[in-house]
Amino acid sequence: MSPDEFRRHGHQVIDWIADYHERLESFPVLSQASPGNVRASLPADPPERGEGFESVLADLDRVIMPGITHWQHPSFFAFFPANASGPAILGDLLASGLGVQGMLWATSPAATELETHMLDWLATLLGLDPRFRSDSAGGGVIQHSASDAALVALVAALHRVSGGATETAGTAAGRFTVYTSEQTHSSVEKACRVAGVGSAALRKLRIDPATQAADAGHLADLLAADVAAGYTPALVVASVGATGTGALDPVGTLADLAHEHGAWLHVDAAWAGVAAVCDELRWINAGVEKADSYCTNPHKWLLTNFDCNAFWVADRAALIGALSILPEYLRNEATESGEVFDYRDWQVPLGRRFRALKLWTVLRWYGARGLRDHIRGHVALAQEFAGWVAADGRFELLAPHPLALVTFALRAGDAATRSALHAVNASGDAYLTHTLVNGRLAIRMAIGSVLTERRHVEAAWHAIQAQA
Ligand code: PLP
Repeated sequence: MSPDEFRRHGHQVIDWIADYHERLESFPVLSQASPGNVRASLPADPPERGEGFESVLADLDRVIMPGITHWQHPSFFAFFPANASGPAILGDLLASGLGVQGMLWATSPAATELETHMLDWLATLLGLDPRFRSDSAGGGVIQHSASDAALVALVAALHRVSGGATETAGTAAGRFTVYTSEQTHSSVEKACRVAGVGSAALRKLRIDPATQAADAGHLADLLAADVAAGYTPALVVASVGATGTGALDPVGTLADLAHEHGAWLHVDAAWAGVAAVCDELRWINAGVEKADSYCTNPHKWLLTNFDCNAFWVADRAALIGALSILPEYLRNEATESGEVFDYRDWQVPLGRRFRALKLWTVLRWYGARGLRDHIRGHVALAQEFAGWVAADGRFELLAPHPLALVTFALRAGDAATRSALHAVNASGDAYLTHTLVNGRLAIRMAIGSVLTERRHVEAAWHAIQAQA
């Protein structure tokens, strides 16, 4: 594709995306495709000769769009949001255009330094403890996902708890233990499997039925019992905004207990953490100043296209010590000077995209005020929604809802709750998902799409009421 052809088709693609965002509301939120539908519309074999880009765009509408669930739809209330925004899309496009692979500082100094700087900016915006900043012993890095953050936190924890041994992870099964609440995201168990400590090493903490938060007393008991039995506690993971109900664990108390036993405390604030851009919501991060690592996803609720997980450590030496291997072909003067970060040493893969660029375009376009307005708008809508649920005797709120996630159920029971949820989702007018709260089926209303307005929340509520 010549630069002129690229320019022409690039304009078509930008027009297509702008039109899509304008007509998002005309699509059913949840794709109506059945398994196999999309593949049935694709040729069995790849083309022998190249095709015009127009025919690809035509097939985007014909083949792909029917199989799309519209995550940017203003009535998308499922899972957690995956915000896309104009400045983030453009930042991502610029990163693709530059085609930089920023594994080492030397392979593109701007990619590394912008990333370090953006993570420091974000630490300021979230009010994180100075220990997480790059001018301390810590620092931030962009991971692909919160799941990767959990994995590298575990690997760093194993490295530290075993006195700097580098081969620990693969031989760890049966020696080390990991602790987290039964509400915590499954990525922690996956990290245990991948790091080699195994699922059996994972101890699930009881939760308080009223708050859904981890029971710190149970952690104390488990730690004592495991140490007495000869295990080495390696990692405790606290959630700030657990996936099911948005539960907030007592981070400071869990950190104190972890540290008493030499274990690492990681905070998973994948969805909720970004709410700390608002002063009045910063309390959600109480205790995070004691953590060894912390992560939140701008790619969920902070206007930045997937993928962008912001991950900070208080002691970067443990992370780098666990992950750094320097083969001859990567040696270079900058690395040897010790003056630069090589982000390949902070993650599992070697190669990495220039993701800091989209964070830069987002933070500059919206500014701190724009980010706060974005979060505040959703929190206010969720509080209003919770008020409607509380005022309707057929429904019941099932968990605290200080942010933008409301979990509720029909008093008539699980079957009624399930059929109301299915009917609303099948209509295509809105999309919500479910969880279990104290054994009961609950509907999750997660408000966070960039385009969501009060009228969309109100319409979803009326649709749910109509099914009650
Ligand atoms: N942690 C929490 C609390 C989550 O809610 C999620 C996903 O929703 C994850 C981790 C996994 O996120 P990722 O897709 O970034 O791995």
